[in-house]
Amino acid sequence: MRTISVKAPAKINLTLDVLGKRTDGYHEVEMIMTTVDLSDRLELTVLDTDEIRIQSEHAYVPSDHRNLAYRAADLLRKRFGITKGVEIVLDKHIPVAAGLAGGSSDAAATLRGMNELFDLGLSLEQLAELGAEVGSDVSFCVMGGTAIARGRGEKLELIPSPPPCYVVLAKPKIGVSTADVYRAVDMDQMIHPNTEAMVKAIHERDFHTICDNLGNALEAVTLEMHPEVRQIKETMLHCGADGVLMSGSGPTVFALIEHEQKAHRVYNGLKGFCPEVFVVRILGKKH
Ligand code: ATP
Repeated sequence: MRTISVKAPAKINLTLDVLGKRTDGYHEVEMIMTTVDLSDRLELTVLDTDEIRIQSEHAYVPSDHRNLAYRAADLLRKRFGITKGVEIVLDKHIPVAAGLAGGSSDAAATLRGMNELFDLGLSLEQLAELGAEVGSDVSFCVMGGTAIARGRGEKLELIPSPPPCYVVLAKPKIGVSTADVYRAVDMDQMIHPNTEAMVKAIHERDFHTICDNLGNALEAVTLEMHPEVRQIKETMLHCGADGVLMSGSGPTVFALIEHEQKAHRVYNGLKGFCPEVFVVRILGKKH
């Protein structure tokens, strides 16, 4: 019996802009995403039967076709005529429904893992293309590192990663549905981030200009629905964060911090009223 273990890291959005609504129901986006070292772990085992079996102890993670890892496995089996099945044991560490792409990253890790397990010989680019059929953020999660994502999130331009820093992630008790947030978007009221300035700051490795240009067009929408997100942002800034922003459609808020001591101060400031708080690093990758 063959088993392999694969890591599925979370992402944060340094910027997220919504450019308009498309005729297919999706929104046209432009966002800069980067991977951080908070990861789910997946164990994939080849089965002699033709099933896809998902195991997770997390109460809110489905174990049927609704699981994005299941969909990724199903897609590969059908597309490449794989007759054997696969068991996927999900060890979740990434908060669920948090704006950190946990499900998408599990799907991406499933694609990478099955590529190896079944000797499919596919390149990362080919896997990323397949990932787009599973979900908008899956292509980015296949590639990892830092990228500008356009279209509905699947068109990637890989860029260098920001300079090393500490990232404190804080998720309030609530979960947020990405679809609900997009439904509430008002294109006329939106505050757009300056993506170009952020890309320039990343290329110049200018940490403080990166912090000044953090921006998320969905933040105001989620803030309106969940005022506790604002409280987290204020606490982070009060404790000395260099920059703060909500990730994706939220509700997770992250702080970028240059110095370790300050990162721990921000962490301690949030632990009391936030159930899930982590200090992590950006997972740099040279493209
Ligand atoms: P994104 O940032 O891409 O919008 P998210 O971090 O907000 O994603 P997920 O953690 O991926 O959200 O979960 C959203 C929903 O998807 C969950 O409520 C859950 O029911 C479902 N889901 C499907 N597959 C998974 C998975 N492998 N892990 C977690 N949730 C999953």
